[in-house]
Amino acid sequence: MSLKKKKLLAVIGDPVAHSLSPVMQNAALKKLKLPYEYIPLRIKPEQLKEFAQTKAKRLLGFNITIPHKETILPFLDRLTFEAKLIGAVNTVLQENGKLVGFNTDGSGYLMSLEREKKFNPRNRDIVMLGAGGAARAIATILLLNQARSLVIANRSIQRAQALAQELSSHFKKQKIFWCGLEGNELKKYLKRTHLLINATSVGLKGTHFIDFPWKDLYRQALVSDIVYAPQPMTSFLKEAKKAGHKIHTGEGMLVYQGALALEIWTGKKPDAYLMRRVLLKELKKNHKL
Ligand code: NDP
Repeated sequence: MSLKKKKLLAVIGDPVAHSLSPVMQNAALKKLKLPYEYIPLRIKPEQLKEFAQTKAKRLLGFNITIPHKETILPFLDRLTFEAKLIGAVNTVLQENGKLVGFNTDGSGYLMSLEREKKFNPRNRDIVMLGAGGAARAIATILLLNQARSLVIANRSIQRAQALAQELSSHFKKQKIFWCGLEGNELKKYLKRTHLLINATSVGLKGTHFIDFPWKDLYRQALVSDIVYAPQPMTSFLKEAKKAGHKIHTGEGMLVYQGALALEIWTGKKPDAYLMRRVLLKELKKNHKL
């Protein structure tokens, strides 16, 4: 099949060359025997508007990575309920020249958690470290799926507070707290959490939390890290395992956010196991985020 006849999908970002999505998505498309090609496109911030008005309309759809997940919003024709609530988009479907924005980051995380760890957030108490873009998507989905309480613990307390207050305005019946990463307040929350999530970038490039209070964490708590490099696990998860906790690794979120995006574009369910295998192989080749 010539490239001309192929429908194009893409990931846009700046930078984008490091993205693992093309290899993962192309493997899944090939397995589905679909004549689509998924390519990386470097779009600088100043090119975003023009891209959305021209090239984007020739694609079947595209993923969005840093730094465009929020700045793309004014150029989209419609947003799903989830994307609107999260305030960011990682997947766009082009339908008759209209661009529809989705967010599959949070639902990809939840799918990974449910499928791999059989963890359902309903009526659970959760502590999440981090208040950035990924944390925001995950928090929204956990609350939409009836988590009983959520603590947002962040290095910058003001950022944790802002996110917690914004979420509280949407989720009035659930308890949402905020605190810093150090001190007794976090320890108090750790004692009664069913799920502890690292949604900060700590763990990348050999960084780690110093003296994380593992002894204060509820003994049965599941520990999850969305950072997926280094493989096979981050130092956060190594420490959690050593402290006797079950762990949930970060590559599943990447796989399922991609699988959900592919289903939105093609209407077909891709082979998530294949996507994971391909992703892990790439990660072994020493790709960084
Ligand atoms: P953002 O830049 O939006 O947020 C970064 C977060 O990390 C903030 O909460 C920030 O705290 C915190 N942080 C950064 N450095 C430190 C530090 N030294 N000590 C404590 N906290 C720190 O990034 P994203 O939310 O988009 O992504 C976060 C990480 O999640 C990425 O690095 C990536 O590894 C991972 N990720 C994984 C995905 C997956 O599919 N598995 C998908 C998306 C992201 P502060 O506000 O104080 O600066």
